[in-house]
Amino acid sequence: MEKILVCLKRVVDYNVKIRIKPDETDVVTEGVKMSINPFDEIALEEALRIKESGQANEVIIVSVGPEDCQQQLRTGLAMGADRAILVEHSENTEPLTVAKLLHQIVQQEQPELILLGKQAIDDDCNQTGQMLAELCSYSQATYASKLSVGSNSLEVTREVDQGLETLEIDLPAIVTVDLRLNDPRYVKLPDIMKAKKKSLDVINPNDLKISMDPFFKVISVTAPPPRESGIKLSDAGELFDALKAKGLVD
Ligand code: AMP
Repeated sequence: MEKILVCLKRVVDYNVKIRIKPDETDVVTEGVKMSINPFDEIALEEALRIKESGQANEVIIVSVGPEDCQQQLRTGLAMGADRAILVEHSENTEPLTVAKLLHQIVQQEQPELILLGKQAIDDDCNQTGQMLAELCSYSQATYASKLSVGSNSLEVTREVDQGLETLEIDLPAIVTVDLRLNDPRYVKLPDIMKAKKKSLDVINPNDLKISMDPFFKVISVTAPPPRESGIKLSDAGELFDALKAKGLVD
């Protein structure tokens, strides 16, 4: 195939202990380490492996978000992507709006394969890939744990409750990827230097003629209740009594 498009979202790094803003409107992102959404890193790794096996010519990465997303796109370029596109918008963007913007990019670039994460770890929506597939009218497969590329089709293995399900879908296709697809590579210093010379186009959403007006309003964001501290029991008998007192055993 000619092109693979990989969608990368900038999110709070998964190792960061999340703090909520005092006005409960959002989580704190100022001064917090931001990274590529982990599932998107897996999607990019897969695209790079497909290219390295000679089955694709170009890997393009795209992000929708503030100017700072350039940092994550540069990391993606250092991993091995050929070029990057940032659709720059300073506010939070909802999955449907992102899907509409990505649809415009798909129309411009005409990739045969579009890879996304199964979900963004900040909003846990699990919507963007499916919405994009509908907008593009492309075949789609979600939660991929293995991919193998054919001449005009794709075999996608998914982990389901019963075991493994393998589907065949036609290209062009949209696939959202799951955790066990691969282990993304580490970025090496020389690659970071080389990535600085790669192309990173910045696009204004107005030029794509997509309204950025939100479809919903976040009413509040609150932290989960703090975990109660545990108790120490001296033997199995005490454990049984404690469980019985809570009604957890008869
Ligand atoms: P979500 O539907 O928000 O859970 O996101 C699912 C996937 O869509 C993510 O793993 C990304 O691959 C892609 N995606 C979501 N938001 C963005 C964004 N702002 N920029 C680029 N890709 C995105």
